[in-house]
Amino acid sequence: MVKRVYNFNPGPAVLPFSVLEEASKGVLEFANLGMSILEISHRAKEFEAVLNETEKNLLDLMSLSSEEYKILFLQGGASLQFCMIPMNFLNKEDTADYIHTGTWSKGAIKEAKLFGNVHIAATSEDKKFNYIPGKFNWTSGASYIHVTSNNTIEGTQFHEFPDTGNVPVMVDMSSDMLSRKLDFSKFDIIYAGAQKNLGPAGVTIVVLKKKLLEKCKEGLPTLLSYKTQYEKNSLYNTPPVFAIYVVGLVAKWIKAQGGLEEIEKVNVKKAKLLYDTIDELRDVYHPVVTDLSSRSLMNIVFRMASEEIEKEFISKTKECGLIGLKGHRSVGGLRASLYNAFPLEGIEVLVDFMRKFAKS
Ligand SMILES: *Cc1c(COP(=O)(O)O)cnc(C)c1O
Repeated sequence: MVKRVYNFNPGPAVLPFSVLEEASKGVLEFANLGMSILEISHRAKEFEAVLNETEKNLLDLMSLSSEEYKILFLQGGASLQFCMIPMNFLNKEDTADYIHTGTWSKGAIKEAKLFGNVHIAATSEDKKFNYIPGKFNWTSGASYIHVTSNNTIEGTQFHEFPDTGNVPVMVDMSSDMLSRKLDFSKFDIIYAGAQKNLGPAGVTIVVLKKKLLEKCKEGLPTLLSYKTQYEKNSLYNTPPVFAIYVVGLVAKWIKAQGGLEEIEKVNVKKAKLLYDTIDELRDVYHPVVTDLSSRSLMNIVFRMASEEIEKEFISKTKECGLIGLKGHRSVGGLRASLYNAFPLEGIEVLVDFMRKFAKS
């Protein structure tokens, strides 16, 4: 038996243990081929089956049809999507609208400016990004709108998405993809580095509305064109075979949990337990996001009276097997990342610890 800690890391992050067990079998031998999943050809029909099954399961989970949507399995992380989206869809003289809600949207905006004009349609920068803006100032004729659905570092999340008419919407869902039920058909591109909620590092999931391909610019570097990746079924060059295989196992695991509806219920319960405790013990733990409708279910950030106490808290939680509670280096404080695979028991242990620590 492996002794597991409670892993609150923001990403790469906790995976279901059953997925790790299955993946470790696949590392030794895959599909009775006498070879490891690490050794097979990406052109093998057994791998193509994994790719297609994973795509089907991901689309099913989001209730999207394969007629309208395609899943791409790319590399370069969510960060490369910051660049690929404007590279493919923003012309020099045109404007894209960005909602600026934190560190990651800042990265996306920086890349977009290399290709065309960027208009900030809304921002929460005035309050250190501790809320989700509710008023938007759209550009008429914008090429697209870019939204970061969950702000991993600041701990905020869109619970309602703005009405954007028929302008294409691109969503960075890196840290809350498949964590809740949404009307995914409102979006034109959804992208996420797998390493937060979907699998290991090394693959980026891009959900692409096929209709959008008509708007792709021509003359782009081959690998950076969505059109190439679409036409070649993500197999223009060697894709990250193992990472895709594990994402496939995670997709099956989510299905076995009862799909997004059930996953969401558990995620709501988990987050509520921790927020309630923080709010109750406000003298000791200070929630960073006080606007309740902006709070993230995935990344819960809080502070304590001083950095010294925070340090002590982190070191004592480590001794109890509660790992990864340090806030992002850019904002400090504490952060608990409660992705799909994080168990409710882990939060119960944390909450018990917080009560004891508050008393002492
Ligand atoms: C982690 C993260 C990224 C960056 O992901 P990489 O895969 O490391 O490039 C981008 N956006 C959000 C919201 C993130 O949480």
